[in-house]
Amino acid sequence: MITRTIATCQIEDWQKQLSEAFSSVKKLLEHLEIPINDYPTWVGAEKDFPLRVPRAFVNKISMGDINDPLLRQVLPHHDETLSVAGFTKDPLLELKANPSKGLLHKYSSRVLVILGSACAVHCRYCFRRHFPYQDNGLSQREFEDIVNYVKRFPEVNEVILSGGDPLISSNSRLNHLIEALEQIPHLRRIRFHTRTPVVIPARIDAEFIALVQRTSLQVIMVLHCNHPNELDPAFTEAMSALKAAGVTLLNQSVLLQGVNDNANILTQLSEALFDSHILPYYLHVLDPVAGASHFNVDESTGVALINQLLTTLPGYLVPKLVKEEAGQASKTPVVETIPATPKSTK
Ligand SMILES: *Cc1c(COP(=O)(O)O)cnc(C)c1O
Ligand code: SF4
Repeated sequence: MITRTIATCQIEDWQKQLSEAFSSVKKLLEHLEIPINDYPTWVGAEKDFPLRVPRAFVNKISMGDINDPLLRQVLPHHDETLSVAGFTKDPLLELKANPSKGLLHKYSSRVLVILGSACAVHCRYCFRRHFPYQDNGLSQREFEDIVNYVKRFPEVNEVILSGGDPLISSNSRLNHLIEALEQIPHLRRIRFHTRTPVVIPARIDAEFIALVQRTSLQVIMVLHCNHPNELDPAFTEAMSALKAAGVTLLNQSVLLQGVNDNANILTQLSEALFDSHILPYYLHVLDPVAGASHFNVDESTGVALINQLLTTLPGYLVPKLVKEEAGQASKTPVVETIPATPKSTK
């Protein structure tokens, strides 16, 4: 009996959870006890970008609630098929911006590496939804080209591993990549941008912890949580392990209509993040990507929300509201333009 329990535990690793993610709308709704007739509006929307959501994330969704803020992020919706002016397939012109396959060098001190396009979860609002999410990602050879590129730019002191999701890669692959990065004399930091620990906390396993502890580079992880319900005890435990390993933990969210466009929710999110040792970093205005217009929140609403957060939270728990504009040297802060005070005429 005991042996059997152990055997079950061994199969329950993160890769198995990944392969067993929900991929059928019908099965997901059935599991959540939502009658399929209550939700006829998904048909057609999943053709471009199929449903994908691991069970550990599904477990955080309320049963029977079609309006659940976590479900809304992953469930295909008919509105995705609408064509809306200004919402395009590659709003950031990223498909054009790479000097070497998988490399984006838009900002002077850091480069972003797209290790592959696969993700543990498919977020309906994602600007990468039109990228080929099934490709195999970078080869070791292509990664070496990137390392050689970075060697030529002494001002680049940080490499961001992104995707898709970099934590889809195995620990041994990540280990190889980090060893290659350690050969760049001027590199100081590596940064992971990932949502995997939110949807499969078991991804932060002992081997991954050992890997981030071993490297001489400083390690930063930018999580991607949008709603306080995404943070549960298993996730917090994973973050505690990373913190103990010396990893700096930050979070970026996307401002999403019907998910977190509410000062109360954003306050709870910041508090929950801090309870998990994470500081809020960015709150992104949605990129105008085709198929995501129903998640859009006005910039002025975003500014008003941030102003409310400033009254409920300490400054270090208020994220920076930013947007991404093609051709800029950094993310663009979104700030209220305060009308100039009229000069007193006496
Ligand atoms: C967002 C982004 C970064 C990181 O920007 P930070 O402000 O350092 O978080 C780097 N490179 C690219 C191409 C990006 O899109
Ligand atoms: S995990 Fe990130 S990159 Fe992947 S679909 Fe979600 S938002 Fe997009």
